[in-house]
Amino acid sequence: SFTSFSPLRLPIRSALSRFISTLVVAEHDGGSIKPSSLSAVEAAAAISRENSISVLLGGSGPDIGKAALQAASSHPLISQVLVADADIFLHPLAETWAELVHLVQQKGGYSHIITASNSFGKNILPRAAALLDVSPVTDITEISEPHLFVRPIYAGNALCTVRYVGKDPCMMTIRSPSFPMHSESAEPKSEAAPISQVDLSTFNEEFFGKSRWLKLASQDTERPDLGNARVVVTGGRGLKSAENFKLLEKLAEKLGAAVGATRAAVDAGFVPNDLQVGQTGKIVAPELYMAFGVSGAIQHLAGMRDSKVIVAINKDADAPIFQVADYGLVADLFDVIPELIEKLPEK
Ligand code: FAD
Repeated sequence: SFTSFSPLRLPIRSALSRFISTLVVAEHDGGSIKPSSLSAVEAAAAISRENSISVLLGGSGPDIGKAALQAASSHPLISQVLVADADIFLHPLAETWAELVHLVQQKGGYSHIITASNSFGKNILPRAAALLDVSPVTDITEISEPHLFVRPIYAGNALCTVRYVGKDPCMMTIRSPSFPMHSESAEPKSEAAPISQVDLSTFNEEFFGKSRWLKLASQDTERPDLGNARVVVTGGRGLKSAENFKLLEKLAEKLGAAVGATRAAVDAGFVPNDLQVGQTGKIVAPELYMAFGVSGAIQHLAGMRDSKVIVAINKDADAPIFQVADYGLVADLFDVIPELIEKLPEK
């Protein structure tokens, strides 16, 4: 339950901030904590004044041990790492993970539960919130106070300040580009936080049968992950075919960039939909975003307008993308991309 901001409520809410303890539901890949989860830790640090952040990890085998060690020394405010060591947590099935979050919350009584707003967090958190009977606050971009947040609405065209007035825990997903890792957080702590195992003896196994993990079908690529890349080159309908996207991929290779696409390019079958940037795709905020043959519809801008430097190449001088671009080039992309590939030095 939310109310709009009212300064009169401040003293009561501020008093609550004394009892803050935060659980970060984290994701790892091959033993390494995902950057989006480290951003969730940064968001937790914006709420916690002392070291009261617990990090929850799940999985089994050597990877989970490696990930736990990394988490234990990843931020000075982390007080403990909780490991749910079981095969059932190897894959992010919402039923299983939501039940785990529920169990850990019952034992830990956290005031806040935070995860990144990505396919992992968006899958698990709402279900866990339903089990705990609270309303989650999603897509947070700014934390003003422990229960006062900013989140975009209307496809990023307006920012809404919301105060959480429900019972504990306050469950939230954060947009990772809004909570970059601070350099001092990247330095390993001299003293690592303790790692302990979650007691799974009371774990409710009746939830396991509802869905099963079959396989992960992902593109095998050397390129950086779209959500975390420092440079993104995006193609729109202007690229005209899947074949022409190969040209963009060559440019991406030269720049060490991830490739993105508009929904029009995805719908036309040029590229798979995991490359879609926008309101119904991925939200990115790289150092450099280059858009080729993209008109700049609001649903696309919703996914990339926070990029540090935006470069747009479009043959229509009136294309709306130029209104958000730092650098605009009115030109034919089929002239520009080959020239860029030719002139850029080898990596
Ligand atoms: P177009 O709008 O067709 O633009 C193509 C551009 O390419 C034009 O500006 C043209 O001038 C330029 N061009 C053509 N040829 C060349 C050339 N040779 N050289 C240079 N420039 C050239 N869209 C998203 O991207 N992401 C989303 O998540 C998303 N979610 C949506 C959700 C909803 C509910 C709805 C209704 C729509 C959503 N859309 C989304 C779609 C969005 O409204 C636009 O239709 C889409 O972004 C347009 O894609 P585009 O810019 O590639 O195509």
